[in-house]
Amino acid sequence: MSSLYCVICGRPLSTDESISREIGPICFARLVAALEHQKDHKNKYVRFEKPGRTSKEREKAAA
Ligand SMILES: [Zn+2]
Repeated sequence: MSSLYCVICGRPLSTDESISREIGPICFARLVAALEHQKDHKNKYVRFEKPGRTSKEREKAAA
């Protein structure tokens, strides 16, 4: 059984969607924004760690 309160702010949840998510719509929007932000940072880190060599290595592996 899922919680009837938002796990982030503790406010009572009113819609089935929020209840199944256990997060209210406002907190969910914030969470999504935070995750998107994190994703951007991760992509930057990946790019930073792997400079443009990968395409050449792929060509070698294909040949
Ligand atoms: Zn909340």
